[in-house]
Amino acid sequence: MSPLPAITIKIVSPYLSMEDKYKDLVAQLKAHEGLAAIFGEAAADIDAAAEPEAIEAARVKHLGRKSPLSLLLRSIPELPNEERPVVGKYGNQARAALEQALADRKKQLESGELERRLATEQVDITLPGEPFPQGRLHIITQTQWEIEDIFAGLGYRIAEGPEVETDYYNFTALNTPEGHPARSSHDTFFVDGDPDVLLRTHTSPVQIRVMEKEQPPIYVIMPGRVYRRDSDATHTPMFHQIEGLAVDEHITMADLKGTLETFVRAIFGADRVIRLRPHFFPFTEPSVEVDVSCMICGGDGCRSCKHSGWLEILGAGMVDPNVFGFVDYEADRMQGFAFGMGVERIAMLKHGMTDLRMFYDNDLRFIKQF
Ligand SMILES: [Zn+2]
Repeated sequence: MSPLPAITIKIVSPYLSMEDKYKDLVAQLKAHEGLAAIFGEAAADIDAAAEPEAIEAARVKHLGRKSPLSLLLRSIPELPNEERPVVGKYGNQARAALEQALADRKKQLESGELERRLATEQVDITLPGEPFPQGRLHIITQTQWEIEDIFAGLGYRIAEGPEVETDYYNFTALNTPEGHPARSSHDTFFVDGDPDVLLRTHTSPVQIRVMEKEQPPIYVIMPGRVYRRDSDATHTPMFHQIEGLAVDEHITMADLKGTLETFVRAIFGADRVIRLRPHFFPFTEPSVEVDVSCMICGGDGCRSCKHSGWLEILGAGMVDPNVFGFVDYEADRMQGFAFGMGVERIAMLKHGMTDLRMFYDNDLRFIKQF
């Protein structure tokens, strides 16, 4: 293998002195002694200028209105006859040369400045960066996502709907016509000027919206914010619900119980059991309330479960065939179940909290625990 050819590095001076750069002009200027002296002095100053301020000073001194060159050019009419053409011809060339030289020198100094800064202000990319505060999801969001994950694992899709609803979707289509007593427990916020528009009191309207658009089989959960006119330690005017809806052929209450038991064990622990108690909801028939065995005392009875061994966690039931009538499903062929829970309630039970308002106080000492 032949050796690599030697590389010769030629160092080229980056700056040509004025005398070298304007050799021809300097020779011609000798025809007029005064002009040659003026140019020589200006050239020396430009050669010596080492920073932008010195360049500007040289420009004012040698090209300004009161500079010797300007005065000489202005005095041409008064000059002796033999000097006039020489000064007229070379004086303007000298002026143009000085202007060009100042501009060149300025550009050169600036690029030198840039190089100097590039050389001295290097960034060490191996140094650790500024610490960036890491945020986290709010405990309600964490809980909601955990619930969504469990049902996604059971084959449920997520559906969302508007928070500002109409009376029809929030009540009527859910088998709660005007004047129905169940409406009174859902006192909420109505939109001024339109008694038919309100903030939804539950995520159930999304069930109707899904069933209007799609045919069974349907397996969806519907998370979201809901509103009611309540405010105390266990109620806030805004809270989060997750509802579930399954509609298919041959769905029974055993499917409902199995689904909820699977969910409860996934979120509260494998040794939890549930019980169903008869209840009433307008849009399910039969309806149940679902309790989970107390995770604090294991069912023996403690303060949290009011010594019953059970904690109430959600409401559920088989979809009332009347509801199918509102969405044109064949009520004699389809069955379904629905359930709904408060996300805050699940989070409180999971973390042993007693006051729901803490979720919304934005106290970082509380929020950072999760
Ligand atoms: Zn207990």
